Amino acid sequence: MRFQNKIVLVTGSTRGIGKEIAFAFAKEGATAIIIGRTAEATDRVRDEIIDIGFAAESFACDVTNLANVTEIVNKILDKHKRVDILVNNAGITKDNLLLRMSEDDFQSVIDINLRGVFNCTKIVARAMLKEKAGRIINISSIIGITGNVGQANYAASKAGIIGFTKSVARELASRGITANAVAPGYIQTDMTAQMKSQVQEEILKRIPLGKLGTAQDVAGVCLFLASEQASYITGQTLIVDGGMAI
Ligand code: NAP
Repeated sequence: MRFQNKIVLVTGSTRGIGKEIAFAFAKEGATAIIIGRTAEATDRVRDEIIDIGFAAESFACDVTNLANVTEIVNKILDKHKRVDILVNNAGITKDNLLLRMSEDDFQSVIDINLRGVFNCTKIVARAMLKEKAGRIINISSIIGITGNVGQANYAASKAGIIGFTKSVARELASRGITANAVAPGYIQTDMTAQMKSQVQEEILKRIPLGKLGTAQDVAGVCLFLASEQASYITGQTLIVDGGMAI
């Protein structure tokens, strides 16, 4: 129970990697705050966590909307007085080749994946600064490091997260707050289930460990980065990709 009494806000925790991260923290004693766009989806995950005997709360919140983020974080602070750990995980893909990519598809991916990280970090960091403590974990992607055909929007947003994390780490370090990024490779979730099986087979050939990752693989790294063992690590990007980017 490494995170007993800790308040952990996980954006995009209604399914996939974010849901697994929320469960992992809750199972170690934290109160997991579930964030997604609809109350229906967030309440469902909250109830699943409570049903197995752990603590969770849920809020519908669109991370692209700063006013909405501010309102929800204020509600959390009114009740708990602090947020100990922020995991910026909400993200989408809208893949297309550059010349076919619409301005909207570029902008919406940047808005959710990058502006969402800015919005949540800005508002939560204010409370962490008062506490002189906090852990910020931003979910980037291996695509933000290597780039990928058909993912110029996604790669730009995920590379942006890495630069953002380094800057925030420098700004907040003197106040006892760390900020790190996690760059998963191909993880089995709804996002990768959309890929054609032929594409999946090609990807498998490029992964030295010979399998897609699991959401648990990513959650385990988030637990580590939020733990005491990682207290001297900040501004880093931890790659969780089965060796694909070696
Ligand atoms: P997913 O299954 O598609 O889940 C995405 C989550 O983001 C959902 O909970 C969704 O909630 C939430 N979300 C989307 N837009 C939102 C918004 N505007 N405001 C609040 N929440 C929003 O995705 P995943 O595969 O678990 O990926 C999670 C993160 O890991 C993403 O940042 C992704 O880029 C990154 N990643 C994934 C992989 C992979 O292989 N899967 C690899 C590298 C990195 P609602 O729809 O309920 O609002």
